Amino acid sequence: MHVTSDTLSLIGNTPLVRLKGPSEAAGCDIYGKCEFANPGASVKDRAALFIVRDAEARGLIQPGGTIVEGTAGNTGIGLALVANAKGYKTIIVMPETQSREKMDTLRALGAELVLVPAAPYSNPGHFVHTSRRIAEETPNAIWANQFDNIANRKAHIIGTAEEIWAQMDGRIDGFTCAAGTGGTIAGVGLGLKARDENVCIALSDPHGAALYNYYAHGELKAEGSSVAEGIGQGRITANLEGAPIDTQFRISDEEGMEWVRRLLAEEGLCLGLSSGINVAGAVQLGRQLGPGKRIATILCDTGFRYLSTLYNRQWLEAKGLPVPEWLTTT
Ligand code: PMP
Repeated sequence: MHVTSDTLSLIGNTPLVRLKGPSEAAGCDIYGKCEFANPGASVKDRAALFIVRDAEARGLIQPGGTIVEGTAGNTGIGLALVANAKGYKTIIVMPETQSREKMDTLRALGAELVLVPAAPYSNPGHFVHTSRRIAEETPNAIWANQFDNIANRKAHIIGTAEEIWAQMDGRIDGFTCAAGTGGTIAGVGLGLKARDENVCIALSDPHGAALYNYYAHGELKAEGSSVAEGIGQGRITANLEGAPIDTQFRISDEEGMEWVRRLLAEEGLCLGLSSGINVAGAVQLGRQLGPGKRIATILCDTGFRYLSTLYNRQWLEAKGLPVPEWLTTT
């Protein structure tokens, strides 16, 4: 067994698992990249590490400095862990609509948490703009800027895409995932296309996001809404610029929740809703590409982060979402 004294080397090199139910439903092989196995339990540890290393390489942050970021939570958790390992402080700005578990986790890790009301991106009080202002006002601080800092997608070009390519022995026909910053879809897409330009890259967009219409019809237009955290983008971020998207699906919360429920009940994987939406997209991509194809997607974060929401009967009922049978008596 591998032994290391570098805790940051525990980020990445996650396992890839063949998902039985989704593979059967699609008539092909669907694989999930287990990003919940990162130390911060999400895919965002990768971006956090690359953003901090990039800032160090550019001489932007000095010992004892502060990392400031606006995040739906997972990037903040990744940044807090990386910062602790490197001797930096973190200030995390988050919309107050995110799960209680993410707030508790950030406080537990030692981050200073600033909660702001949910607001449109055009509003100066939006969590991203608030975090930029705090970074400007704080001495020896950097703004991680995950949406428009392409160190984010480099983590996926160099890391996630290469790992998937190696784990699938270079035999991969399609990849799909949703976009928050877009770092994952753009980075994995660019990385896999560099290996084989025939790999089909599909965006799985939740309702309430504008990217489906952008890639399908050239117009950034959002319809409906979603309770999924961490995904659902309304603009072309710097990370999304030039993303090689071949096709796109629009996935409902109900479809995503059905896979969240089945992956837990049938395969023992406890995941968040963005993972369910990704798997629903992978099944659609598999049906489109045809029998025998090999498709990869991202299992973005752990379901333990959503015990008070996705795994809570009252919350599900309040949102009008189906309650799994084992939660009906809780
Ligand atoms: N799922 C979850 C749970 C996330 O927190 C994020 C990050 N915002 C994503 C998916 C999307 O990843 P990316 O930012 O790379 O698009």
